[in-house]
Amino acid sequence: MKMQTNEKYRDLQQLIKEDLNLPSPPAVAVQILKAVKNDGSALAELVEIISADPALAAKLLKVANSGIFSCGNEITNISRAVSVLGTNIIKNIALSFVIAAEFSDNELIGFDFNYFWRSSITTAVAAELFSHLISHEDDDIFVAAMLQDIGMLVIAMTKGEEYNKLLAEIDTSDIDLLERESNKFGFNHQQVGYALLMSWNLPDSISIPIFYHHQPDQAPETFKKAAEINSYAYHLSTIYTKIGGAEKARLIKQKMAEQYHIDEVQAAELLDNIAIKSNKLLAAFDLDPDEIKPYSQLLQEANAELAKLNLSSEQLILEIKESKELAQRATRKLLDANNRLKELVYRDGLTGLYNHRFFQESLSNEIARAIRYQSSVSLILFDIDFFKVVNDTYGHPAGDLVLMNIAKAVTNAVRPCDIVARYGGEEFAVILPETNAAGVKVFAARLRRCIEGIATLADGQLIYVTVSAGATTFSKYSVGITKSILVETVDRALYMSKDNGRNQVTILEPDLIG
Ligand code: GH3
Ligand code: MG
Ligand code: MG
Repeated sequence: MKMQTNEKYRDLQQLIKEDLNLPSPPAVAVQILKAVKNDGSALAELVEIISADPALAAKLLKVANSGIFSCGNEITNISRAVSVLGTNIIKNIALSFVIAAEFSDNELIGFDFNYFWRSSITTAVAAELFSHLISHEDDDIFVAAMLQDIGMLVIAMTKGEEYNKLLAEIDTSDIDLLERESNKFGFNHQQVGYALLMSWNLPDSISIPIFYHHQPDQAPETFKKAAEINSYAYHLSTIYTKIGGAEKARLIKQKMAEQYHIDEVQAAELLDNIAIKSNKLLAAFDLDPDEIKPYSQLLQEANAELAKLNLSSEQLILEIKESKELAQRATRKLLDANNRLKELVYRDGLTGLYNHRFFQESLSNEIARAIRYQSSVSLILFDIDFFKVVNDTYGHPAGDLVLMNIAKAVTNAVRPCDIVARYGGEEFAVILPETNAAGVKVFAARLRRCIEGIATLADGQLIYVTVSAGATTFSKYSVGITKSILVETVDRALYMSKDNGRNQVTILEPDLIG
C-alpha cells in the first residue's frame, strides 16, 4: 500500500529535502535491497554480498545466535542463517548493521551517538520480543523499530547546535518533542525518518510505521499494528535508557495488561529479556555491553532505597530470588510503597486533596491527552469570598474546618476521573477531562450552589461561605494555547467574578493575546 501522496505531503517532502542534507544510502545497503527485490536469486546473492564482508558476516552470526529471532542449534555460517531465519530477516539484520555503521562517526559535536544507537538497539529488541508476545508476525519490525528515530539523527546532522538546544528544552512527553520540531523546522523527526527511508527505497512496511511511531492511531490500517508496536517498543526501551525506569515500567505493564492481558509474570519476563538480549546485541554492534541491567535487578536496587520506608529490604530481595511467584508479590509491595510515597508527595495535608504540584503535572498531562485524542479538557479555579473575615470572626481552626468541608463536598460532586486540587490557601482547582465548554458551565454553576449550601458547625455556630469561580476549556480549536495561557485565563475569570460582586462564575475562552 502506498501512502497518500497528497499535495501537503509532497510539500513536506520538498521542504525536508530543501532544508536537510538527506544522506545517500550506503552502497552495501543498496546491494542488499536490490538482491532481495529480484527474489529468484535472492538467497544466493544475499549470502554472497554478506560473505564478502567478513566483519559483517561475523556480526550477523552473533545476532542470529542471540536467541532473539529463533532458538535452536548454533548457526555457524551465513547460508545456514539465511535458510533458518529467512532472507527477509537476514536482510533486515544486515541493513541495520550497515546503516548503524554509516551513522557512527562521532563528528557531530554534542550528539551522543553511542547513546542513540544503544537506545535504538534496545528499542529494536523490545519490538521483536513484544511482537512475539502478542503473536504479531512481522519480519520488518526489528529494523523499523531500530530506525524509528533516525530522523532525529538526520536533523541533528544539518541543524547541529540548534537541534541540541531544542532537545535540551523538551519535557518528558513525546508529543512535546514533535510539536517543538514542527514549530521550529516545519517538520518532525517522524516525517524526516520517513522521507529518508523512502528516498532509500526501503519498503513501506518499514517507513510508514516510522512515520507514525508516536501517533499509531493515525496510521493507515495496514500499518497500525506495526506503528503501535514501535510505540510500545520505544516506551519499553525507556525503562532502560531514561531515568525513572521503575515508574515507566509500572505504566507500561499496566497498559500491556489492559490492552493485551499480559500478566505480571509475562511482563517481568519480557522486561528482563529485553535487557539480556539487548546486551548481547550491543556487543555485536561494537557498543558498550553489560550496561543494561535486567529489570528484576533494578527492582532489587530500588528496594534498597525503600529500606528507608521500614520495609525489610533483605526479606524483599530474598523473595525476589526465590521464585517468580514471590517476585510478583514483592513487586506489588514495592509498587504499594512507591504509591504511598507518591501520595505523600502529591497530597495536601489539611484537606487530603491533591496539591499544587500534582495539579500542574496533571494539567500538562490532560492537555497532552486532549491534543492526542482531539478532545476537550476544562478547568475551574475558585476562591472563598471574604475568608479572612471567617478566620477573624470564628478563629483559624474554624476556618480550617470550612476548608475541609468544601474539599469533601467538591470531591463528592465530581466524577472519578476529575482532579480536585488545593491550589493555594483558600483557592481550589478542578480539572475536568473530556468536558467541553457547555459541560463546564453547568458543572461550575452546580459547584457554586453546592458550596453555598455547606454549613460548618464551629463553637455552636453555623458558618456559611460563598465562592467566586473562573472557568475555561481547552478544545481541539485551542491551537497554540499553552498550559500557562489556560491558567492565566481561569485566574482572570476568577478575578472578574470577584470584581463583579463575588459568589458567581465567569467563563472565558482562552486566547493567544491574553
Ligand atoms: P476575597 O473575597 O477577596 O478572596 O477575600 P479573602 O478574605 O478571602 O481574601 P484574602 O486573600 O484577603 O484572605 C485569604 C485568607 O485565607 C487569609 C488567610 O489567612 C486565609 N487562609 C489561607 N489558608 C488558610 C488555611 O489553611 N486555614 C485557614 N483557616 N485560613 C487560611
Ligand atoms: Mg478569598
Ligand atoms: Mg485568595
